[in-house]
Amino acid sequence: MSWIQDAGHGGSDPGAAKDSNIEKVFTLEAALYVNRRLSELGIASSLTRTGDVTLNPAPKTSKVKPYKKCISHHFNAGGGSGAETIHSIYSDGKFEKLLIEELKKAGYPVRPRPVYTRKNSSGGDYYYMHRLTGSCRTTILEYEFVDGPQSEKIKDKTYREGMYECVVRAICQEEGVHYEGSGSGQTPTPQKANPPKETLTVDGYLNPKTISALQRYFGTPVDGIISKPSLVIKELQRRLNKGNLG
Ligand SMILES: [Zn+2]
Repeated sequence: MSWIQDAGHGGSDPGAAKDSNIEKVFTLEAALYVNRRLSELGIASSLTRTGDVTLNPAPKTSKVKPYKKCISHHFNAGGGSGAETIHSIYSDGKFEKLLIEELKKAGYPVRPRPVYTRKNSSGGDYYYMHRLTGSCRTTILEYEFVDGPQSEKIKDKTYREGMYECVVRAICQEEGVHYEGSGSGQTPTPQKANPPKETLTVDGYLNPKTISALQRYFGTPVDGIISKPSLVIKELQRRLNKGNLG
């Protein structure tokens, strides 16, 4: 029993909503996605809810308590832009920093203060997901605002799944598990958030800028590094096999 994914809203609690951006829909999608990807990668993970059902704080926190690590998946409201994470006053925020780094690397916007804690008036954790989940380290992750400057972009499932994939990468790093992109050939990327506009210097060197451009072009995660094995090289090989580099 290691990880548990919590869809932050569901059932009679829709969370934030703007047009077709409905928090409970996105957060269930995020929890299911991360849970599925972790099991593909051999990391034990469970879910607080598997469908659009109401789950009150008491039954939810008692489900979370036996696990070591929890992510409570959320989308924000209030017109802002970017991701943020909230950790307990009793944890060090290292994992949350890792998460934010992965989102940044993939080209997703983050808030000016993307990792923080919040206290209540009696000096404890403000959020019940921190206060009532015992020794489980719970991360509240707000991916993006349903009603902010990115509200059109997040309507795109590929854009959203690219964010969830960043979570998978951060978890792999923390767990020391080799990260492997989604095997379905539809490795999500935030391509639309990160248009390949940069002009490369034509100098004949395979430098990080060139690798990043290649990764953007092939729709694999953008980090400017050719890993061994490399998703971008795999994609290149697939396309060479097909005889179609476009
Ligand atoms: Zn929420």
